[in-house]
Amino acid sequence: MTTPLTGGCLCGAIRYTVNVPITELRACHCTACQKASGAGGSVNAPLPSAGLKFTKGTPKRYAGKADSGRTLYRFFCGDCGSPLYSQRETAPEMVTLRIGTLDDPGEMKLTAHIWTKSARSWDRIDPGTKQFPQQPDSPPAR
Ligand SMILES: [Zn+2]
Ligand SMILES: [Zn+2]
Repeated sequence: MTTPLTGGCLCGAIRYTVNVPITELRACHCTACQKASGAGGSVNAPLPSAGLKFTKGTPKRYAGKADSGRTLYRFFCGDCGSPLYSQRETAPEMVTLRIGTLDDPGEMKLTAHIWTKSARSWDRIDPGTKQFPQQPDSPPAR
């Protein structure tokens, strides 16, 4: 996909641009992402923080314990509740963008499923991707 990409929350109060290529898409089935999304989990693109710029509004922040035991900040629109991205307390240089908030869906494909051990029975795991029962120790080589 060509950059910059644009996206935002449901109500339009928060808008952003992504200025780096998206090379990886992970579906996360952890129980925290299920609660935060109200669905089977989240689909995320890991990006350097510098590649994500907010052009309108400021997301609200929720600090929660991830299934990995680490503190994870979840950023969302305080007006409409759309989840936008998350960030580890210990890794401010990276963000994971909720890819469903991009305006243009593009031609991206999932590269991995993580936390498959807690995937809901009705959720689909793409057999053509890498799968990790929990948090992979490092980002998977694509
Ligand atoms: Zn909103
Ligand atoms: Zn998760």
